[in-house]
Amino acid sequence: MTVFFCAKCGAELASDLMELPFVPEVSGRDVDRDKQTRLAPSTVPRGHYAIDPEPWGAPFAPPTDEPRPHHRRQLLMPPELTNWTSAGPRNTVVVHPDDVPALRLLDRRGRHQGCCGPLGTGGRNMACGCGALVATLAADCMGPYELHLDPVRVYAFDTEGAEA
Ligand SMILES: [Zn+2]
Ligand SMILES: [Zn+2]
Repeated sequence: MTVFFCAKCGAELASDLMELPFVPEVSGRDVDRDKQTRLAPSTVPRGHYAIDPEPWGAPFAPPTDEPRPHHRRQLLMPPELTNWTSAGPRNTVVVHPDDVPALRLLDRRGRHQGCCGPLGTGGRNMACGCGALVATLAADCMGPYELHLDPVRVYAFDTEGAEA
């Protein structure tokens, strides 16, 4: 089991999460979205985390002529960033948003806000109690539902063996 802490203040952000070997494929089907909130099912189930080896989130690089693989967990982009690709950090830690209750959502307005939640395209938007922005939440009705812990601003502690 793994516990995640804020690298700035040391606060425990998520406890006892089990690692998945890869980021699960999500359903892209509209029918699987929550009837009330319109959120997709969380990419990672409660109690788990997965390391995303691909660049994820902001910043984004402009489109090139090279063919772009379609990404099933594609973020819904603000209009001016349509077809831009992520040049964000690799190895973000994807968790279920409800497993990290201590974080607050900032930046609730502006172009990176969808019609009912953050697009996740504006960079880190979730703050620890100490004020450090440590994670990015994507939670709109047309994109994935994921919380990505920043690999630099969060550190992991493996509890296996620690209790022996
Ligand atoms: Zn903190
Ligand atoms: Zn929406």
